Amino acid sequence: MSLRMPFDNSYARLPARFYARLDPTPVAAPGLIAINAPLARMLGLDPAALATPEGLAVLAGNRVPEGAEPLAQAYAGHQFGGWNPQLGDGRAILLGEVLATDGNRYDIQLKGAGPTPFSRRGDGRAWVGPVIREYLISEAMHALGVPTTRALAAVTTGEDVYRETALPGAVLARVASSHIRVGTFQFFAARGDTEALQILTDHAIARHYPAAQGALGLLQAATAAQARLVAQWMGLGFIHGVMNTDNSHVGGETIDYGPCAFMDDFHPDRVFSSIDQFGRYAYANQPQIAVWNMAQLATGLLPLIDPDQNAAIEAATAVVQGFAEVYEAAWLARFRAKIGLTTAEEGDGGLIEMLLGRMGTLQADFTRTFRGLAEGTAREEFAEPEAWDSWARDWRDRLAREGRSEAEARATAARVNPAIIPRNHRVEAAIQAAVAGDLAPFHRLNAALARPFGPAPEDLDLTAAPRPAEAVRKTFCGT
Ligand code: AMP
Ligand code: MG
Repeated sequence: MSLRMPFDNSYARLPARFYARLDPTPVAAPGLIAINAPLARMLGLDPAALATPEGLAVLAGNRVPEGAEPLAQAYAGHQFGGWNPQLGDGRAILLGEVLATDGNRYDIQLKGAGPTPFSRRGDGRAWVGPVIREYLISEAMHALGVPTTRALAAVTTGEDVYRETALPGAVLARVASSHIRVGTFQFFAARGDTEALQILTDHAIARHYPAAQGALGLLQAATAAQARLVAQWMGLGFIHGVMNTDNSHVGGETIDYGPCAFMDDFHPDRVFSSIDQFGRYAYANQPQIAVWNMAQLATGLLPLIDPDQNAAIEAATAVVQGFAEVYEAAWLARFRAKIGLTTAEEGDGGLIEMLLGRMGTLQADFTRTFRGLAEGTAREEFAEPEAWDSWARDWRDRLAREGRSEAEARATAARVNPAIIPRNHRVEAAIQAAVAGDLAPFHRLNAALARPFGPAPEDLDLTAAPRPAEAVRKTFCGT
């Protein structure tokens, strides 16, 4: 057993103004919530060693492992459209990067590791609720095939954190292909630091898009990645909830799971976040918000794109506008598969919109309707079954033109329409049990979420929609 972590810290080699170096603040008594053994092995780490007292000390921030160069990253961002010139890692500390067995470079970051120079009025800590939430949902997203940061481990701290009341503290060890955000670029752009912008651009290209040419190439690649990512969210009924530019990942991963949620009953205007009063980040707004975020990235990159500002704006605008084409193609491909199609026809978008329209009007459960399409039970999800029947007639006509049977179409749909998602009421129940000292619901849900398309028989109860009294319609920020 070895606690060795093969660090190679490229971000720590960037100029000092990119971050603040500091160690995590030790906690009273690290305790195990979970170690993600498959992910640990993929990273080249020993999961058994991580679960020892020495390993937990590393995961809680009590002991800095050899080769780590802990730092808090600087960034800025637009929060709900309002500019904030200085955010940065206020409660997260990057230990360093490892070159994993898959050949890729990954950040290992401790979230909730104590105050940093970027903490503003915050305590730098996290409580068990948001840590469990991010663990479950980010790992579920991974199992669903969505680019995402991941959860390597979660530990308790043996200390209370104070929100409205005292709550048990926790730290999440997060793994990401980087933590470079749109807001990282904005941080330097706002300071007129073109040299840093160039260094960051080169760094981001090397990490994420080695084939990209210059700042415009980076913008193009990041825009396309966001377009494909948001199309995947839309296909799962996922609402990120805080698509601020500091939560927009330049490599195209889902990052910063706060008040996010998977919808139960479908409505395009659905919002969960308690702080999203005006529905800026509602389900149906996500594509246009992603475009807005890419426009902020473009604005930051302008000085690198062309010395002639008008020429730079023209080139960058064209690239950001390219989002629509990538998004629409990705959205159509995904939803075609969700209704079991393998070929393309002109009217497919209309057929899909028709189904979504009926689901929205009747508030059919998003996940169960599409899974039901695969299992032949979708009709049961409609309060007015004729709404399904008439749509299904058009769908069967379309299948006939494709020359495939309904059974074949269902098999296609079953590969992309999950049965098990991290439903909000289940996540909340796991959190409440954990706060009361019982981790069994968390572990059970976590294990079930690893098999979203082929649930084990004993997990079938997790496919149920909440009864009205069980539904959790509000989510809160991770603070
Ligand atoms: P988030 O909404 O989680 O993406 O966080 C937005 C900003 O607030 C980031 O700069 C965080 O580091 C900071 N932040 C959130 N919670 C805390 C906390 N408890 N202590 C210090 N900073 C925090
Ligand atoms: Mg954030």
